[in-house]
Amino acid sequence: MNQRWRLLALWLLPLGMALLLGWQILGVNQSSRIESNETPVTARNTAVARMSYGRFLDYIEAGRVTAVDIYDGGRNAVVEAVDPDLDNRVQRMRVDLPGLAPELINTLKNEGISFDIHQPRTAPPAAGILGNLLFPILLIGGLILLARRSNSMPGGPGQAMQFGKTKARFAMEAETGVKFDDVAGINEAKQDLEEVVTFLKTPEKFTSVGAQIPKGVLLIGPPGTGKTLLAKAIAGEAGVPFFSLSGSEFVEMFVGVGASRVRDLFKRAKENSPCLIFIDEIDAVGRQRGAGIGGGNDEREQTLNQLLTEMDGFEGNSGIIIIAATNRPDVLDSALMRPGRFDRQVSVDAPDIKGRLSILEVHSRNKKLDKSLSLDSIARRTPGFTGADLANLLNEAAILTARRRKESIGITEIDDAVDRIIAGMEGQPLTDGRSKRLIAYHEVGHALIGTLVKAHDPVQKVTLIPRGQAKGLTWFSPDDDQTLISRAQLKARIMGALGGRAAEDVVFGRAEVTTGAGGDIQQVASMARQMVTRFGMSDLGPVSLEGGNQEVFLGRDLMTRSDVSDAIAKRIDEQIRDMVKRCYQETFNIVKDNREAMDRLVDILIEKETLDGEEFSSVLSEFTAIPEKERTTSLLN
Ligand code: ADP
Ligand code: MG
Ligand code: ZN
Repeated sequence: MNQRWRLLALWLLPLGMALLLGWQILGVNQSSRIESNETPVTARNTAVARMSYGRFLDYIEAGRVTAVDIYDGGRNAVVEAVDPDLDNRVQRMRVDLPGLAPELINTLKNEGISFDIHQPRTAPPAAGILGNLLFPILLIGGLILLARRSNSMPGGPGQAMQFGKTKARFAMEAETGVKFDDVAGINEAKQDLEEVVTFLKTPEKFTSVGAQIPKGVLLIGPPGTGKTLLAKAIAGEAGVPFFSLSGSEFVEMFVGVGASRVRDLFKRAKENSPCLIFIDEIDAVGRQRGAGIGGGNDEREQTLNQLLTEMDGFEGNSGIIIIAATNRPDVLDSALMRPGRFDRQVSVDAPDIKGRLSILEVHSRNKKLDKSLSLDSIARRTPGFTGADLANLLNEAAILTARRRKESIGITEIDDAVDRIIAGMEGQPLTDGRSKRLIAYHEVGHALIGTLVKAHDPVQKVTLIPRGQAKGLTWFSPDDDQTLISRAQLKARIMGALGGRAAEDVVFGRAEVTTGAGGDIQQVASMARQMVTRFGMSDLGPVSLEGGNQEVFLGRDLMTRSDVSDAIAKRIDEQIRDMVKRCYQETFNIVKDNREAMDRLVDILIEKETLDGEEFSSVLSEFTAIPEKERTTSLLN
């Protein structure tokens, strides 16, 4: 159906064109014949400049109009006017009239302007009507056809039609409503940025002594640490508008769109200065130019160039400050960091325990917490959590509290929320059976090593309740904010990770070990490799055998160049295998020696589903001596 219409239109189009052409030739001849006695300039002559009706009236008032020829029943006119600035040179201009208004005729009469009304031409022949109609109809038909076709192609020419529009994709908030008080736990970054508020609020202070106000600040840090929040707080404190846009939104399919967005953004910002521009994920545009497999990305490079141009184009004192955020500063184009651009860099890291406590204080302001609940204990329980994680944690806990119809958030809700954030949703416990037993042995194996190896982080709890991908879990409480990890600790972690597999091995035999240890084994491999190649903890001695940056950035080196020779690579592999083998043997022996205790612990675990660290050690202590850990097992009391 559709197809046939299209065909028809395709046939009609040239037909109509031919007809039209014929009519035009005819028509021109005709009109020249009819109007041969008239002035050669007619209302149809497009070579005459246009003038607006309003201007026309102004000209009449100014006495500049000398003659008016009215055409088409008063719909348009050709006006002769003089220009006093150009020796009263006569100009002819076309004016669209609102219709043959008597007032206009009266005015012309009163002003003594000569005018003439030209009657419409003789009725055009039938062919003329057809010709006149056909063209618009065909044109419209053609357009509809085109438009339809492009609609049916997502991302096709349909998008191209909006091409020139470059809809501004940035958001502007006149008032962010965020204050420095809402940002917690990242005090160093905050201090660095407090100055920016002063720049925005009282630039005179700096400019009066000749200081150049910085234009750009780059916030560097992992996601969720509060970079966006911080930028908003600066705008909020300074009371200036906040323009924001994400780097990934710059980069579009069409070359030039990103660049025109940058232009738009800066234009709007200049109109609203003083203000703050926030560019999130700047690495999406700001990557090293000319990089990447298969050459650079034209669109991105143009966008970046535009950004650099705009940044250079305004004075540091114009009241615009640009804050950009990234978690990949290593891939940024060095041109971005040059003086006068993002020359200030502030790192925003995941908070330490004190930071977490103050973030929790901020986010618990509007929440009802149980009196027995101390924020301090939550902060202890959440090493590695970012500000966003903590906000999420309190929110999840509040949801759980509401679902359980409790008055206030208690420790159980917090615990459940933490587990959920770290390990995913809780699943249904397995029904008793052989696989549940195997999982119980596996987890008890982890916990046993965790408890008996002195250097290992204490066991927090063991559970058979599945969560996320895991069928059972053993939780440890690592020392908070530990920056230095000893060789003994790393070795203990390898052994702890191997504990699960060792337990399966001891109890069920080599033939029965399962795939459940896959994740553990991967961890073991990566820890062992790092010990050898990065930390110099093997017989190869204290040499770093690979670059610190594990990630391959295709932009810089096409592939990671291997710094080590084949011979060394072989020795590295030997060292790793050796180390893991020895750890496994040791683990296996510990598990074997504690078989009796394990059987008992597995029985209890299957019955109770969850055992906390203290319960676990107290059962275990009936069988063997437990080494004293430097920290208390349970950090929650
Ligand atoms: P980023 O931009 O670094 O990815 P965001 O600023 O978007 O992180 O943080 C997301 C949310 O997490 C914030 O809206 C806030 O609720 C919370 N948050 C993150 N960091 C902090 C912090 N330092 N203090 C208070 N809240 C924070
Ligand atoms: Mg952000
Ligand atoms: Zn495991």
